[in-house]
Amino acid sequence: MRTPAELTQLFRASGRHVTPQRQSIFRALAGNESHPTAEKVYEAVRAEMETISLKTVYQTLHDLEELGEIAPLEVGTGAVRFDPNVERAHHHLVCRVCGDVRDVFVDFPAVGLPERLAQGYDVERSDVVFRGRCGRCRSES
Ligand SMILES: [Zn+2]
Ligand SMILES: [Zn+2]
Repeated sequence: MRTPAELTQLFRASGRHVTPQRQSIFRALAGNESHPTAEKVYEAVRAEMETISLKTVYQTLHDLEELGEIAPLEVGTGAVRFDPNVERAHHHLVCRVCGDVRDVFVDFPAVGLPERLAQGYDVERSDVVFRGRCGRCRSES
């Protein structure tokens, strides 16, 4: 994702409204590695700006997704998460107990489908999800 200042310019250039609420959402997402849900973004922003609505959060996340600045991520933890790291391809570690999601930067050249198994698909990417218990959950049990 671009910096909050660059996003402000990008939103204006694409004819979208930029409000202090939206800029606060940009800041909440910048460098955020927790893969937050819309609710989590809402909570974070509301802490510094009480006048934000959940609807504004959803709308802004939708706009950011449309602009390719964030990517939706569904890893079976309930709600859709949002990933501001769209610059570097990566996989994810997911805790089955607390729903923690971490980035994993590793290349798997062997994850590919031989043509006879691809069933006519032009495969563009693959996502690997490693599931288990995170360090914190392991130390609590
Ligand atoms: Zn955990
Ligand atoms: Zn990620």
